[in-house]
Amino acid sequence: MGIKYSNKINKIRTFALVLIFAGIAIMYIGLFFQQSPFLVTAFMLLGFLAIIASTVIYFWIGMLSSKTVQVQCPNCGKQTKMLGRVDACMYCDEPLTLDKSLEGKEFDESYNKKSK
Ligand SMILES: [Zn+2]
Repeated sequence: MGIKYSNKINKIRTFALVLIFAGIAIMYIGLFFQQSPFLVTAFMLLGFLAIIASTVIYFWIGMLSSKTVQVQCPNCGKQTKMLGRVDACMYCDEPLTLDKSLEGKEFDESYNKKSK
């Protein structure tokens, strides 16, 4: 395995978390431009939008979670959540599949898009 895959839900969650910190950072940077009301407003608005976007993503994760399948990881033995036909373990990034025909094959996220 050349590329390391990580769990989709984890990936989205990490992105949402980064977005919150980016939003706060952008708002903080805006404080350095207090001489210019326009720049302060622009930074505040941008930071605010990033935080709003992150909230939307968190909400989306909540909806996605209802579609996940609970499986026991064969590698680390923990209960993990899978999204789609192929996903990686949330704890050890072991590639997992629900489809027996794909077992042992090279892990490929494109299998999710095929509708068979
Ligand atoms: Zn695992």
